Amino acid sequence: MSMISYFLSDYNYSPMNTSLIFDVKRYAINDGPGIRITIFLKGCPLSCKWCHNPESISSNIQKLYNNSKCIGCEQCANACEQDACTLTPNGIVTDPELCVLCGKCAEVCPTKATEMSGEEMTVGHIMKLIKKETLLMDQSEGGVTFSGGEPLLHHEFLNEILDECIKEEIHTCIDTTGFTKKDILLKVASKANYFLYDLKHMDSDIHKEFTGVPNEKILENLKALAEIGTKMNIRIPLIKGVNDDDTNIHKSAKFISELDGESKKVNILPYHSIAIKKYEKLGQYYNPGTMDVPDEIRLQQVLNIFEEYGISAIVGG
Ligand code: SF4
Ligand code: SF4
Repeated sequence: MSMISYFLSDYNYSPMNTSLIFDVKRYAINDGPGIRITIFLKGCPLSCKWCHNPESISSNIQKLYNNSKCIGCEQCANACEQDACTLTPNGIVTDPELCVLCGKCAEVCPTKATEMSGEEMTVGHIMKLIKKETLLMDQSEGGVTFSGGEPLLHHEFLNEILDECIKEEIHTCIDTTGFTKKDILLKVASKANYFLYDLKHMDSDIHKEFTGVPNEKILENLKALAEIGTKMNIRIPLIKGVNDDDTNIHKSAKFISELDGESKKVNILPYHSIAIKKYEKLGQYYNPGTMDVPDEIRLQQVLNIFEEYGISAIVGG
């Protein structure tokens, strides 16, 4: 039974529109105000080279395999009706031509060496998850955060949930790359209480090199959100060798300082490579290339630059 199903096991629910969810995090303290439940929707139009949730990028269910947990019991191979799983001297190998991603192998795996990423959930499912957390949310002035992947890829589904949260007076936060159509963003913004908005690089060519998409739409959308007075934190993943140079930091700080509305909160999120194992489980190669961890001195210098522009930035959050 998946973690998500476990949380829902004592509920009845009716079928509705669904979206693919790849994780649910309870007691989240860095995903918006207070203590929150964070719902991670699968699929993203960006493919950032430093992504620490590589399973979030594909909009499809995926199979993950961790060789170090595999005990070679072959229960997965026996459960597979497609004969897609084979035990080899290097562990279980799955034939992608035969695998239909049914998840039966993961259901029987005793060690969780095989797992599936992505579970179809309805608005009703999600609301039941959220409502289980309302006491903690109320006590901490928290709420629910929709993250990804890119939650705005699922905007129709998201709007339905936001309508339900409004009825229930639950605080909502959207964690977004900002890479979407402006009308989609503004409709969601008219219903959500808070945004976490990523700003990765001010140079569009470099942005495209490292994320797969240019940045013009992202910057325009951020301006549009600020114009309507959206409450938000702007989050900058700080990656040595990609975006931590003085030119980019000054441009970022200037851009943020010129946005409409109250002074924006900025979170600097230092690069780390702890997701390497996840890439291995997906059968993907993680290439750090020029990317590296910024040191404490550089982090302080970056904070000082933001301060020059009247912005109080913090590391983390
Ligand atoms: S997901 Fe289904 S088809 Fe694919 S290997 Fe597992 S059991 Fe076989
Ligand atoms: S069921 Fe799990 S532990 Fe057993 S062989 Fe398959 S992947 Fe390995």
